[in-house]
Amino acid sequence: MYEFQLTSRINNTIQDICWRFSFRKVNRVLIKAGAMRKINPELMTFIFASLSRGTPAEGASFSVMFIPATFRCHDCGRTWTTDDSEFLCIHCGSRDVDLLTGLEFAIDFLEVES
Ligand SMILES: [Zn+2]
Repeated sequence: MYEFQLTSRINNTIQDICWRFSFRKVNRVLIKAGAMRKINPELMTFIFASLSRGTPAEGASFSVMFIPATFRCHDCGRTWTTDDSEFLCIHCGSRDVDLLTGLEFAIDFLEVES
């Protein structure tokens, strides 16, 4: 399961950070995710609550901030932002486009107690 792998990575990273910096408790976790990743935030919240049980992050609030996909067209030179994942220029119909943003996946913010 895609969400399980990503959430498991986040959980492991948070455990590492807590161990390294002796953080006692994590109150809040904010994840930044590109729209192209098509993740289900409710499912990730559920998985995180389960994986973090018995760790400093147990009971932490978990939320996901979405970054829209931004494309640039090589033919007409325009850029646009969309929730659509199609590699197709909305201005000229060209398929010669680059994805500039939308694949991000990272911990954006952690609120902790030491
Ligand atoms: Zn174009």
